[in-house]
Order: sequence, then C-alpha cells, then structure tokens
Amino acid sequence: MKRVTILGATGSIGQNTLDLIRRAPQEFEVVALTGGRNIAQLAADAREFRASLAVTAHDDLLDDLRAALAGSGIEAASGAQALIEAAARPADWVMSAIVGAAGLPPGLTALEQGATLALANKESLVAAGPLLMATAARKGARILPVDSEHSAIFQALVGEDMEAVRRVIITASGGAFRDWPMERLAGATIEEASTHPNWDMGQRITIDSASMFNKALEMIEAREFFALDPDKIEVLVHPESLVHALVGFCDGGLMAHVGPPDMRHAIGYALNWPERRELPVEVLDLAATGQLTFRAPDTARYPALRLAREVMRARGLSGAVFNGAKERALDHFIAGRIGFLAMSAIVEEVLTRLSADKGLIDAEITLDTVMHLDHLSRVCADEVAQKQSR
Ligand code: NAD
Ligand code: MG
Repeated sequence: MKRVTILGATGSIGQNTLDLIRRAPQEFEVVALTGGRNIAQLAADAREFRASLAVTAHDDLLDDLRAALAGSGIEAASGAQALIEAAARPADWVMSAIVGAAGLPPGLTALEQGATLALANKESLVAAGPLLMATAARKGARILPVDSEHSAIFQALVGEDMEAVRRVIITASGGAFRDWPMERLAGATIEEASTHPNWDMGQRITIDSASMFNKALEMIEAREFFALDPDKIEVLVHPESLVHALVGFCDGGLMAHVGPPDMRHAIGYALNWPERRELPVEVLDLAATGQLTFRAPDTARYPALRLAREVMRARGLSGAVFNGAKERALDHFIAGRIGFLAMSAIVEEVLTRLSADKGLIDAEITLDTVMHLDHLSRVCADEVAQKQSR
C-alpha cells in the first residue's frame, strides 16, 4: 500500500488525484487531506477515503469541520501549522496542490520527512526553487512534476543525458484572450478571464493562463526543475494543447510529448512512477484533430514572459518577489479593483522597486527569507495597485 497525503485535496488537481485513487482503492492508504473553505467536500472525501487527518486552512471553520466529521474517528485540525503537521505525517507520496506560495511550507515539510513530492504547486518552485531542490537532495527525496508541461519534459528526458539537451520548448494554449485584439485586453472582465478554451482548472491558474503569467511561472519552474540555462527555455503558442512540451537535442532531434488535455495524465504519471499504468483519459484521435499548429508568442501582448526572463537572469529571491507580486495583483484583479493589464504593470513595478536593494534579492534562500520577500512583495504590490486602481 502506498501511503498518500493530498495538500489542496478539494481543488481541481486534488479532486483529479482522488479520482485516480478511487479507481485503485486497494493500492493506497490516504493519510491526510487538506482543503480551504469547502468543508463539505473535505469531510466527504476524508470519510470516503478513510483519511486519518483532515485539515482546513481556516481556523474559523474548525468547528464546522469537526461537526462534519463527527462519529467518523477522523482527526480534524485547522490553520497553517496544522497544514505543516499534515505534511509531516509519515507518507510515501504527497501531492502538493495548494494554490500559491502557501503551498511552500507544507511541501518543504513533506520533503523533510523524505516523501516523494508530486508538485503541482509551481509557485513554491518559483519562489524557492533552490531551497526545495536542495532539501530533496539532502533527504534523498524525489520531486516529480505534475504541471503538464514539466511532466512532458520529464517524460521526454527519460534515458537522456542533460548534456545533450539544447533547448526545451514549453507550449501555451494562449489562454482566453489569444484571439482578442490588443485594444480589448484592458477592458477584459474577471468572467472573461476565468474561462479557459482547453483546460478545466481552478480560477486563479485560469486567469494566469489568460495573462500568460502561468507560462511565465512555468518558464521559471522549468529552470529550477531541470537546472536549465534560461536561454534554452522557449515558449510556443499551440492552441490545440496536445503537445505539452518538446525537448531539443544536440543532434537536431526534438522529442515532443503529446497527450490529452486532462491533468489525470500528468497526475497519474507521477502517482505510478516509475511505472506506466492505464489511465482513464481520452485516447487521442489525431486524424480527427487534423492539424497541430504553433506560433511564436506575442511578447507585447504578454509582458509576463519578458518579466520571467528578467527573473531567471536575476535569480536569488527575485522569484519570490515575482510570485508574491503576481498573487497580489491577481487578488486585486479578482476583487475588481484593477484592470487586466494592470496586473503585469504592478508586477514589473514591484520587481523594479525591490530589486533595487541587491542585499535583499541576493540574501541566502531559506524559508524565512522567501516568506519575508513574499510578504514585502505583497505589501509593495498593494501600494502600487492603490495608484493603479480605477
Ligand atoms: P484550486 O483553486 O482548484 O484548488 C486549490 C486548493 O488549495 C484547494 O484545496 C484550496 O482549498 C487550497 N487552498 C487555497 N488557498 C489555500 C491556502 N492559503 N492555504 C491552504 N490551502 C489553500 O487550484 P488548482 O487549479 O487545483 O491548482 C492547484 C495548484 O496546481 C496550483 O499551484 C496550480 O498552479 C497548479 N496546477 C493546476 C493545474 C490544473 O489543471 N488545475 C495544472 C497545472 C498546475
Ligand atoms: Mg501547465
């Protein structure tokens, strides 16, 4: 039996993970499940999978969670410290599927106990890549990518020598606004940005796809994950979302990973690794698809991609600043306080302001310094957003 814990179990990735576990109940023992405000879902899943612990991120919901679990014998807890305790419970495989930098402390804790970390929470790698990778190395723990592009790269690299890799191409669907004229973007609404043409995901990552901040995060994620020179990381717009990434080698060959736009493929790959097993995903009919198209991203339309390159060049704690500022800018957009294009303007301004202090950016990367920079970047983003607000 594989002992599994799911951080962010009630979300889109968490639910897809539970869907796979539900199909092979004899193979898995669920240790802990965590969630946010959706107590009914969290309690129902904890009961169905007989978890030993269920944690909500919110202290004000602890009584509700206790009530929902009454008589089940399942332990209930709440708050940031309880999330860390859930991640510290002995488990073989931990899914990191909390959204945002909040996923960093529990993800790190899972590595500290030596568990395999299935990483959907790209924000933690962007904010603290060197810390996560060093912790995994020190503990002999493995990090397996769950983001579809990074799972694709990982799969294309099986049996290959990194010395022979010349480039890595991450594809982007182009998000909700790929065919919009530039003039319309400033007035894009939250509803319009929250609809993805190809993928069914949480709201935050869906809006990040429309702004390409998701792709920007993924470029940095690829850098950290595969220790790639930033110049080797490219982005291609591929509206069909079937080729998730390509790896180019020194002999001119490109290995492309083609898969259905269903996160259960990448989650299942990480769940079954190093084996491949059957998964409940669509069998692609490429003849019916007819054609796969690619085009270069329009960097004027997507400043996030340019900012990602700056962050990769600057390194240090600039990833924590980039991510923190992006998360706050997104909060402001979702709250209706700023327009769609203001998000990248805010992130750029925060990066400029905080990067001026070299000592800050180049400090040692520890959980404390990352969380400190995350905090500073949010405060700074609030200040800048105040100026930008409509
Ligand atoms: P989601 O919003 O659907 O779910 C997020 C989960 O995290 C929920 O369980 C929620 O309760 C919990 N959560 C939210 N804020 C929290 C906090 N502050 N503290 C603790 N828990 C909190 O998000 P999602 O789409 O499932 O994405 C999860 C992660 O996976 C993100 O990092 C995202 O970038 C990444 N990812 C998602 C997809 C996808 O298809 N959904 C694809 C690739 C990567
Ligand atoms: Mg992705």
